[in-house]
Formats: sequence, structure tokens, C-alpha cells
Amino acid sequence: MGIKSVKDIIGAALDSVSDTTDVLERDSVLFPAFDLDKCNGCGRCVISCNDGGHQAIRFDDRKPKLNGSKCVGCHLCRLVCPGDAIMAGKKRINRTADTK
Ligand code: SF4
Ligand code: SF4
Repeated sequence: MGIKSVKDIIGAALDSVSDTTDVLERDSVLFPAFDLDKCNGCGRCVISCNDGGHQAIRFDDRKPKLNGSKCVGCHLCRLVCPGDAIMAGKKRINRTADTK
């Protein structure tokens, strides 16, 4: 690609960066879904969710269980799963309905 140095790509993506996060839809939560047949019980999803400050996954007998009342739908758990055992679920809820 003709890139010879890090300097060649510094700032190259700036046009793709939004100057505001106001455009993000933050009112609803799409829950993750766990495929327990693919789950190897590693616990990375639990640790990542705890580290993210949500504590929305319980570990029962080394199998993850979602606590929907704590989940914010960030899908960090999904990113760290080594077994492709977490996907976007079908349940989406409107959080603003809870708080208004
Ligand atoms: S990160 Fe994936 S494989 Fe590991 S416990 Fe969670 S769902 Fe199972
Ligand atoms: S989507 Fe985010 S908050 Fe919900 S269980 Fe996964 S890591 Fe936790």
C-alpha cells in the first residue's frame, strides 16, 4: 500500500471520526445471547463484564448466565469470547422506559 512509516498514516482516519457522540442511539439495549454448546467455560465474558463495571454475567458451573437488569448491551463480552459462543440476541429493551 506504499506505507513506509507510521508517519504516513497518522491522521488518515480523521475524516471518519465523528466530532460528537450525540448521534449514538443510547436508549435501547440489545442483549447478548450465549450458545452454551459452543461455550468452553473460560470465563472471559464474566471477567470483561466485571471489568467494564456491569457485573451482568453470573458464572454457574462455568456457564455464563445473563442478568438483563444489569446489562447495558456493550457487547464487550462478545468481543472477548474465544469460542464465538456469544452473539447478538433477539431481545432489545428500551431503557428510557425504565427510567422515565
Ligand atoms: S467467553 Fe465465551 S467461551 Fe468463555 S465462558 Fe464466556 S461464552 Fe463461554
Ligand atoms: S453486553 Fe456488556 S454489559 Fe451486557 S453482559 Fe456483555 S459485557 Fe456485560
